[in-house]
Amino acid sequence: MKTILINLKEIKPGKTTFSILSNSEDLELKDIEYELASKINTQINIYKNRNNYEMEIASIFDLRLICSRCLSEFIKQFNEISHFYLKEGKEDVEKEHTFSDEDAYTIFFSEESIDIAPIIREQVILSIPIKPLCSESCQLPSYKSEFTDIDPRWQKLMELKDKLNQ
Ligand SMILES: [Zn+2]
Repeated sequence: MKTILINLKEIKPGKTTFSILSNSEDLELKDIEYELASKINTQINIYKNRNNYEMEIASIFDLRLICSRCLSEFIKQFNEISHFYLKEGKEDVEKEHTFSDEDAYTIFFSEESIDIAPIIREQVILSIPIKPLCSESCQLPSYKSEFTDIDPRWQKLMELKDKLNQ
């Protein structure tokens, strides 16, 4: 897998933005359940305040899915956003185990730069729906539609039945 390195020492105070384009080969996403139908367009925003870093990673990409109801193939766009706190040093599980902000994760770094390729890869993998649907209203081919293609020999009988019911 390619590395996508961000050198934190070069980050100036305030907001810094990077854009990265990667593909399924870069991120070893060739063998996932559904194929990527586009490149992965990622925007990274890093907010630095003294020695505190906050990082937002937003990835936009298309997946070629197969509808779990009608089995038709369709392409859906995903926009996945993750938030992180970056801290220098090694992870201290006991101290950092807090649920105060469930949407944000803390990344500990000891090197000058961090590799965000695994984060983007995870965004794609976690976005894969368990039961993709081509649309909210997608229906299985229903029994009703089968009855509309009814054998003409039965049609007379059905009409008779309707008459009797009137
Ligand atoms: Zn469908």
